[in-house]
Amino acid sequence: MTKQNFKVVIVGRTNVGKSTLFNRLSTSVKSMTLDYEGVTRDFISDTVDWKGRHFELIDTGGIDFKKGLEFLVEVVRERAIKVLKEADLVLFVCDGAIGVTAEDQTLARFVHKLDKPTLMLMNKVDSKHTQDHVDEFYRLGFKETLAISAEHGIGIAELLDAILEALPQQLPEVPEEPLYKVVLIGKPNVGKSSLMNILVGKDRSLVADIAGTTREAISDKVLFHKETIQVTDTAGVRRKSSVDDGIEQLMVKSSLTAIKESDIVLLLIDGQEAQLSQQELKLLAYAYDENKSVILLRNKEDLIDGDIEAQWKFDTSSYEYLLKKVEILTISCKTGYNVGKILPLIKEVWDRFGMHFTTTDVTVILKEALDRTPLYHNQQRLKLFSAKQIGTKPPLIRLNVNEPLWFGPSQKSFFENVLRKHYNLKGVPVVFAVRKMFFD
Ligand code: GDP
Ligand code: GDP
Repeated sequence: MTKQNFKVVIVGRTNVGKSTLFNRLSTSVKSMTLDYEGVTRDFISDTVDWKGRHFELIDTGGIDFKKGLEFLVEVVRERAIKVLKEADLVLFVCDGAIGVTAEDQTLARFVHKLDKPTLMLMNKVDSKHTQDHVDEFYRLGFKETLAISAEHGIGIAELLDAILEALPQQLPEVPEEPLYKVVLIGKPNVGKSSLMNILVGKDRSLVADIAGTTREAISDKVLFHKETIQVTDTAGVRRKSSVDDGIEQLMVKSSLTAIKESDIVLLLIDGQEAQLSQQELKLLAYAYDENKSVILLRNKEDLIDGDIEAQWKFDTSSYEYLLKKVEILTISCKTGYNVGKILPLIKEVWDRFGMHFTTTDVTVILKEALDRTPLYHNQQRLKLFSAKQIGTKPPLIRLNVNEPLWFGPSQKSFFENVLRKHYNLKGVPVVFAVRKMFFD
């Protein structure tokens, strides 16, 4: 598990003394102190050490809630809000010499809503007016209020102590980024929720029997062989119906997005169907085009009989070329048939996704194939001088050739098939980049 620093975020309207406070607490990074209002500054941060502990101090540079703001201010505000949402502790700074303004009140409401541990700081305590305003500040409703002077260093040691006290003793455990993301897609009722529950080992998704019910895409992490994989169950995809097109479109879109963000796509289908629907075929092709690994899971094995199986072989023959590239596993969420094989298969496919070929091997294999089966473009022979793998996940092979323009999709698929014959690349797309070489 990776450890991160606690985040202490300074917020407050302009001119209350945020930069001065930041400079007072930080040791290395210095920010500009500007004496006039309305200046948008970027965030600055520094690691602060105090009594053997440390935290990250961030100055948001002020959030302006006034209406009719220019775009830039809006952008800064959005970013400040994001930083604040990640804060472990908020330092809400006010100007004690001036007292509580309407803007302070707006900000205070906003900070309360964040629901984070907060210290309210009455700055400029050196000013003789501060005493007059103390009550106003207490009325803002923060549990802890401290009087400080950022400029004159009053109350700073107490502030640092209070910060340490407000932070948890232990740094939070940050879950590691999953090694790879697996997305589970499929039409309603094919068994996604059932499979999800089996994979994740607990009841996470609601099993809904009504076709077309919109569901939030849910996501969970599975630990497998000490690696984290993420399984996402998307809202179902259905053949386009004439009725609720809006929802249909939305669901397809969410599946496409989920595919884009994943590494491995599990397309779950109902095994009783002897073929893939147009929608499923499209998703499969889309996943491949997006260079994702694909595993096709035929669920409800308990309901598949010999007739369905024979029909499947017959009906899918027209897109056999596509299915050949895919891992297909027949499972049953009901009886548990083959479900134990899913995670090992995912792992296998992931390993293939990261496969390495030596330059010699890949050059020899592809050149020999082209010698045996010459390819032509307007009676001119296509030449391959060498091949080299230049990327993984998925494997990316550069072909050094005589004329790149002659190497279109069908020529590339020729090379792809050759590689598939020599290596087990099931479930893995192979990508080619073609480059011109001038020598023979
Ligand atoms: P920010 O806009 O909130 O970052 O505020 P600055 O740090 O730029 O400070 C605004 C003004 O307040 C500057 O002129 C500072 O010198 C002044 N200032 C900051 N802290 C104090 C303080 O503790 N006492 C007094 N009297 N002035 C201060
Ligand atoms: P989802 O809509 O894709 O999430 O599908 P569900 O997991 O909600 O399952 C739809 C229906 O199929 C439910 O009634 C399940 O009990 C049933 N089901 C799921 N897997 C199997 C299976 O392997 N065999 C049989 N016979 N029924 C299954």
